[in-house]
Amino acid sequence: MSDYIQENTKEIPVKYQPDVAVAGGGIAGIAAALAAARNGADVLLIEKQCMVGGLATSGLIAGYLPLCDGYGHQVSYGIAEELLRLSIRYGAQSEVPLAWLEKKEETEKQKKRYEVQFNPQYMALLTEQQLIKEHVHILYDSQICGVTCKDDRIAELLVENKSGRLAVRAKTYVDATGDADLYWYAKHPTRLFSKGNILAGWYYFYDGVQVKLRPLGFAEVFEEEKKNTVKPLVNRRFYGVDGQEISELLLLSHEAVLKDIMEMKKEKPAMEPVSIAGMPQLRMTRCIQGEYELKETDNDVDFPDSVGMIADWRKRGMVYEIPYRSLYSKKLGNVISAGRCICTDDGMWDISRVIPPCAVTGEAAGTAAAMTTDFGELSYERLAKRLRRQGQKLKISEIE
Ligand SMILES: Cc1cc2nc3c(=O)[nH]c(=O)nc-3n(C[C@H](O)[C@H](O)[C@H](O)COP(=O)(O)OP(=O)(O)OC[C@H]3O[C@@H](n4cnc5c(N)ncnc54)[C@H](O)[C@@H]3O)c2cc1C
Repeated sequence: MSDYIQENTKEIPVKYQPDVAVAGGGIAGIAAALAAARNGADVLLIEKQCMVGGLATSGLIAGYLPLCDGYGHQVSYGIAEELLRLSIRYGAQSEVPLAWLEKKEETEKQKKRYEVQFNPQYMALLTEQQLIKEHVHILYDSQICGVTCKDDRIAELLVENKSGRLAVRAKTYVDATGDADLYWYAKHPTRLFSKGNILAGWYYFYDGVQVKLRPLGFAEVFEEEKKNTVKPLVNRRFYGVDGQEISELLLLSHEAVLKDIMEMKKEKPAMEPVSIAGMPQLRMTRCIQGEYELKETDNDVDFPDSVGMIADWRKRGMVYEIPYRSLYSKKLGNVISAGRCICTDDGMWDISRVIPPCAVTGEAAGTAAAMTTDFGELSYERLAKRLRRQGQKLKISEIE
């Protein structure tokens, strides 16, 4: 449709003026907000849902993928490890794998990767408590719907909530929206995931004895790479940046979940659904075009500006340093990205989008956001020193 209306010019109150505004409260946003607050910043976290955690909580993703390389060596530390431990404080899994808890020999640690299953509800409640404890101001039920720009910087975020439209003016901004929304609103180049996403419908159910996760649409296996035949729920892929398409995705996902419940009920009449996802279960949507595009083939590369390490959750032995340059673009000086929208190629995206990398990039972005008002100008040496002080290991050569 080519019909347009003109929106009336209106006065918008600047309601918040924090040092750091974190856009999106998923794992990356939580890590960024905690890191920025710990580095002395006054932090506002803006979240459109009514809980923090994003896909990991509202999206019902309950597997905290590995902090280790699969050969018994931990690679991700800092807030990534802190959140893993927080996620299981009261269940679903009672402890981290024993070999890791007891700091056993590497041969023992190889048998079970450093990963856990957690309860998304606890995760949402506990991370919220942690943010409050560390004086992060959380603005819920508030959608960022635009930005104003001045001199290649974001001046304000435009936010809609029950109060109407308001503005947030910060010194620096962390784009942890998962979809690079801030960059997109600022008309900075972004990139879509070329293959699109399969339909997912993960939900929790009670089987008459216990509550279980049903990962419907489980594997992200592309047609041509398929070795086993996991049938997709629908023959369609989703890009996740169009309102109409997202609505269709949600309708199809709900339909698939209901159908699955009815099928399961035939075999187990006592079975009842407990919770369905409160947000679209999209893995890779839109990412920034930063100073360096991290590639799947960059495993073992020694980057001069590494801000942390991550492992490939799919393949043992694949370790990546994350260059600071993949988090920002010099053309948008006071904005940095974190989580599943940092600058990567398609192959790397499937590695960097999962929970531990989102926490690692979130911690780096939040720390940097508290230290500078221009990410391209920040001294890497100062940033690295801070990150190390916070417990992060940055270099593959430091792996023990
Ligand atoms: C089906 C599926 C299965 C998965 N399985 C696993 C798994 O087993 N283990 C694992 O580690 N990872 C898994 N993942 C990936 C992982 O859960 C996510 O990629 C990761 O949690 C993303 O974190 P994030 O903070 O970058 O983004 P998100 O979790 O997407 O958080 C972004 C947040 O920003 C908010 N937001 C977005 N736009 C705006 C806006 N304009 N204004 C205000 N707020 C906004 C959103 O509401 C959301 O809370 C899975 C993902 C999917 C979809």
